[in-house]
Order: sequence, then structure tokens, then C-alpha cells
Amino acid sequence: MSSSPLVADPTTVTNIGIELYGLVDELYPICRSITGHGVRETLHRIEQRLPLAIHEVASGTPVFDWTVPPEWNIRDAWIKDQNGDRVVDFQRSNLHVVSYSVPVRKRVALSELQAHLHTLPEHPSWIPYKTSYYAENWGFCVSAEQAATLTDAEYDVCIDASLAAGHLTYGECYLPGASTEEVLLSCHVCHPSLCNDNLSGIAVAVALGRWLSTLPKRRLSYRLLFIPGTIGSITWLARNQDRLGAIRHGLVLTGLGAPGNLVYKRSRRGATEIDRAAVHALKHSGQATEIRDFIPYGYDERQYCSPGINLAVGCLSRTPYGEYPEYHTSADNLDFVTPDQLERSLQACQTIVNILEGNRTYVSHNPMCEPQLGKRGLYRAVGGAGQHPVQEMALLWVLNLADGGHSLLDIAERSGLSFGSIDHAAALLVHSGLLSERLDTGSMAVPEEKVRRDA
Ligand SMILES: [Zn+2]
Repeated sequence: MSSSPLVADPTTVTNIGIELYGLVDELYPICRSITGHGVRETLHRIEQRLPLAIHEVASGTPVFDWTVPPEWNIRDAWIKDQNGDRVVDFQRSNLHVVSYSVPVRKRVALSELQAHLHTLPEHPSWIPYKTSYYAENWGFCVSAEQAATLTDAEYDVCIDASLAAGHLTYGECYLPGASTEEVLLSCHVCHPSLCNDNLSGIAVAVALGRWLSTLPKRRLSYRLLFIPGTIGSITWLARNQDRLGAIRHGLVLTGLGAPGNLVYKRSRRGATEIDRAAVHALKHSGQATEIRDFIPYGYDERQYCSPGINLAVGCLSRTPYGEYPEYHTSADNLDFVTPDQLERSLQACQTIVNILEGNRTYVSHNPMCEPQLGKRGLYRAVGGAGQHPVQEMALLWVLNLADGGHSLLDIAERSGLSFGSIDHAAALLVHSGLLSERLDTGSMAVPEEKVRRDA
């Protein structure tokens, strides 16, 4: 299926993977944190692909039980040995500095330096990624191999950073549809040079937003958030409490470029329409996938699904939070994510969106026994072949359950057929005058919290 990545044919799906990977590659060198110029630079590059409103929220602003922190920016950092050589150099990897380190410039004894060094002994060549957002501290992250070479009695250390009143920055893209009911799509933009954790979600969200913006008739409205993890979603929720009622469905997009099967983590509510759409999409994806129940641990779904917010927001990823050795290390690099995996993740998102967009409820005009499909050209000409093609079964299922009380997703779930084949059958039946959409309720006709039958 996938040809060489070098084939430059814009019609091949492979090219979408290359485009996704291209954005990961472009954003990789930027030193991001939960605030600061790295986030702004990232948002400006996203803005070149997707219209974005960029918001700046002042340090010190209260947001629920939290406060927007001071802004952190870093210019340079190093550890120099007694010859004056930079033995650890921020310019070589931005993971070398603990994010949110306070500025420091002094000569330290080896023992003091070691108290500020972080290593990963189980993977001696990898640099760990560490943060200290809410405790004032400084530190360096180095490979265990590198740490072992630090044997001088003293070192000069410098972290040329600033931690001062400023802003928290986030980006928001709103794509209006026919309905004001919204789909919230959220990804975090706060990690430095880490590809799967943050950049893969950004790349998929940008491509999804671009695709959504080209859809001729969006039924739903879409809001894409590019936010720093935790404090960003808390800040957005605190500033948009009057909008939450419009959010009908949501997805946190993260960890979508690495090897590993697609994993959907249900919303706290568990069986909402987005949960059912995502489960259905993954089940019919032709790939091995996994469905998990909600737990209050992970990414920003923790905030969207906190008890007072309780939005129907699930999380789509390939490699869930913390469950892979490369997680939060220098090994989460450009070799760890692939164009193919990014592209397959985007396709899963598009399938989920197609289900949300297409999930309507229909009423049959001929409920008294089956209508005669043959005379409408909808049934095979010669009966008794013994096997019903999928399309025929889809027609029969839709006709049987188009009673105004079952959505197309209900019918797809009950029939075991894909949403796409059910949707196509409904379109044929509408065209033949046998069905019409029940317009009074739209997606609201779907029972909001149904007993699960797809676990
Ligand atoms: Zn992370």
C-alpha cells in the first residue's frame, strides 16, 4: 500500500504521512515549556497552516484552584569543565536543562553538581526529560554515560534563563458548522524536543483541522485547542465556562506517531456518542486496537472529565501516558515516530468525525412490511443466491430500524456493519424516497448514556 516516501504524488495517502512528519520535524528543535517563546514560536508555525487565535493570559491570573505561573524563557545553558570546555551544552539538546530551572551561574563542587543531575541508568545513552514547574529549583539532565565522565573536582554551571511575570500562551481554532454544537479537539504544546509526546498530537490536530476546514458542509462546529498540558486546559476551562454547554463531544490527541496499536480511553461518562463513535471506528479500522475505561490519570482529559466539568471527552493515542520506555527521554525523537503511524492516526480521527457528522436518525415511509426494493433497483435482480452482500444487509438493517428512535450509529452497532456502509445505505434509501431524516432531534435522538454493549 505505502510506496516509497520519496514518491511525490500528492494523491497518495503516503504524502499525508510525510506532511504530518514534516511538521513534527519542523517543530522538533524548538524548546517549549508550559509558557514562553517556544510555545509562541510553535503556535506561529501552526498558524501558517491553520487560522489560529492566540491568547495570552497574564501570570498570576487565578484559574480555578491554580494560578497562571510566571513565564519561563531560556537562552543558553552549559556545564564547563576545568579546561573551560562545554561538557554539557543546551545548544546540543534542549532536554539537558530541567524545564523551569531558575537562572544560575556559579562554580560548584562535583558533589553539588551531582545533586542537580538527572540520569536514566536503565537506558545509559538516553537523556531524561524533567520539569520543575511549581518548585523553584535548577538542574541538568544528562545520559548516565555522560554523567560517568564528569570527574573534575569542580565545574562551572550556567543556566541563562528568566522566570518572571509574563503570560501563558495558547492557540485556538474555531471552525463553525451548521449547528452550534461543538467538537473539542485538544492537544498539548508544552514539551521541548519530544516527538511522540506532544509533536505527534500537534501534527495530527493541525492536519485534522485543515481537513475539517475543507469539508463543504460541516454539521457540527469544531474547536481545536493547542495548549500547555494541565495548566493550559485548566486555564481554558476557567475562561470559557459559559461555552461548555455547547461542547457535545471531544478528543484529546496525543502520542499518535509511535509504534503501537491505537488506544481509545473513554470519557468519564463512558458511553457517550464520542465514546461509541471512537469504539466503532477503532473496531472497524482493520487494525489491532484497544479500548480502555476512564481513569483520572493521563493527559488533559483529566481536566475535561473532572466532576464539575464532566465533558464527553475521550483520549486517542497509540502509546498511552508513560507506558513506553522512550517516554520523556531523548529516545522519543524523530526516529521513534513514523509517517505511516501518524497518517493512520489521522485516518482514525477522520473516521470518528465522519461518524459524528453522519450520525442522524431516519424515519421509514414504508414501515408496513418490507418495501419492494427490486422495483427501485435496490435489490439484486435474481433472488436465492444464499449470501447477502454487505450492502443488501445494510439496506435491510436501516429499513428495519429507521423508526425515528434509532440513529445510524445505533444501527451500525446492532448490525455489526461499519458505519460507512450503514450511512451509504441510508443515503440510497433517502434517494429512493423510502426514508427521510427526523429533523426535530438530530443527534439528540441518540440516548446519551446507553448501557454499553461494545466493551
Ligand atoms: Zn509528557
